[in-house]
Amino acid sequence: MLQKAEDVLKRYFGYSSFREGQKKIVGSLLAGKDTIGIMPTGGGKSICYQVPALVLDGVTIVVSPLISLMKDQVDALNGMGIPAAQINSSLDHGEVRTRLAKARQGEYKLLYIAPERLESDSFRALLQELPISLIAVDEAHCVSQWGHDFRPSYLAVADAIRSLPVRPIVAALTATATPEVTEDIRKQLSLVDEEVYITGFGRENLILSVRKGEDKRSFVQEFLDANRQQAGIIYASTRKDVDALHDFLEGRGYSVTKYHAGLSETERARNQEAFLYDDIRTMIATNAFGMGIDKSNVRYVIHYNMPKNLEAYYQEAGRAGRDGEMSECILLFHPQDIQTQSFFIDQNQQSEDRKAYEYKKLYAMIDYCRTPRCLQQSIVHYFGDLSAHVCGRCGNCTDTTEPVDITVEAQKIFSCVKRMGERFGVALIAQVLKASKNKKVSQFGFDKLPTYGLMKNFTEKEIADMIHLLIADGYLGVTESKFPVVTLAQRAIPVLKGEEKVWQKVMLRPVKQQVEDGLFERLR
Ligand code: ADP
Repeated sequence: MLQKAEDVLKRYFGYSSFREGQKKIVGSLLAGKDTIGIMPTGGGKSICYQVPALVLDGVTIVVSPLISLMKDQVDALNGMGIPAAQINSSLDHGEVRTRLAKARQGEYKLLYIAPERLESDSFRALLQELPISLIAVDEAHCVSQWGHDFRPSYLAVADAIRSLPVRPIVAALTATATPEVTEDIRKQLSLVDEEVYITGFGRENLILSVRKGEDKRSFVQEFLDANRQQAGIIYASTRKDVDALHDFLEGRGYSVTKYHAGLSETERARNQEAFLYDDIRTMIATNAFGMGIDKSNVRYVIHYNMPKNLEAYYQEAGRAGRDGEMSECILLFHPQDIQTQSFFIDQNQQSEDRKAYEYKKLYAMIDYCRTPRCLQQSIVHYFGDLSAHVCGRCGNCTDTTEPVDITVEAQKIFSCVKRMGERFGVALIAQVLKASKNKKVSQFGFDKLPTYGLMKNFTEKEIADMIHLLIADGYLGVTESKFPVVTLAQRAIPVLKGEEKVWQKVMLRPVKQQVEDGLFERLR
């Protein structure tokens, strides 16, 4: 059977071989098993049911949510000489009957329908008469309320399958792979003894990295200086950030444009084109930019802020390197990003369940920013493919610098935070440790604290940077009242008790320099 599938792939579609995941999914379907196929956008999901449709007897029903996509696929199939048709709301009843009659006579191998069709009893009765061998449910996450695109009409699919005289094989395909969604697909579609294949999430040509404690503007400037000829996208969380960064870079002569929902339609179209046609190198945008845009030579995607979850991050970062050439995906992490994303979740009036779910995904995103593990592997694991190996390319894989023991400095910072009552922000904590003569310090009597001046060998900025990194690594928390207040997190307790050490790898150059300058007591 698989041999036959490969012949079909070559003859009709003109591809020399299946991608690895496609082969598994096609093989499983042809072996008669219900199959869930999870593949990123662009991974080649349609082949997974189109090829079996041609190998199996009878007709394949494809349930698809978007009429325009359906039409594109049917046109493409017809263009390859494959008999396919669609039935949707644009057809009158007579035309629907004609097409179904043709299907009954075996004139189509694939019949595309919108899920709403299955809610109609009369349509379901007509389906009974078709020799259906396979039902492919495209965008299957639409059946799950956890998915980002729940469509109640998908709930009719399982009933329709049950009502058929002979149960067909069921293929469910999606790019959304959280365990909740997968479980919902299984349950709502009443799959039987199904195989689940999660594949294609690894991208060999992406070099992922996370940078903490950077001055973001200087970093971007330096990066653009070194990559002037390359096209790339910089994503920021808010329109305000996009505008500000755009104006800053434009003012310094960089070839930049911008895109967000606050711009007029004409302006968006103009800016997008300037970027697509390489008139302008760098696009600065919110997540409104990118859907359906296929620019192959994007050499870098920089995230100026951490996005809300890994699905969003990987989708945006994945716009780099579509042409297969090596490309960089850099995330500039700052603890403030956690605040921003938490705020977005809290502000969206959703059920408590939904909020908890969004928070869970946010925490996975934060973990990605903090992990010392291979970044590519972390992402692919997150999407459920546990077979992935370390990539050897990402920022973590290639970082050979030895971590520095900063336990003593961390203890000084933690005890200062504690003695100041966990009621102040980064700047004032840094001033107290630096023994600043600032009036506010003496007003609160902090110049009498035993921690006053404990780190006076460092500059105030260095201390502040270190505090930010300790926040980034989860030793300190930040709570927002009128202004951000630094608090001790659970993770700091064993450090204060001397039970655990703190290693810092990220402040590479500055810390190393300071070690050489003898500022770290421990290493002096
Ligand atoms: P998805 O639905 O997963 O987003 P598509 O089915 O639209 O992906 O396929 C994405 C692209 O990959 C298409 O341009 C398709 O022609 C191409 N493609 C799919 N399978 C193969 C293959 N086996 N070999 C080469 N190209 C393929």
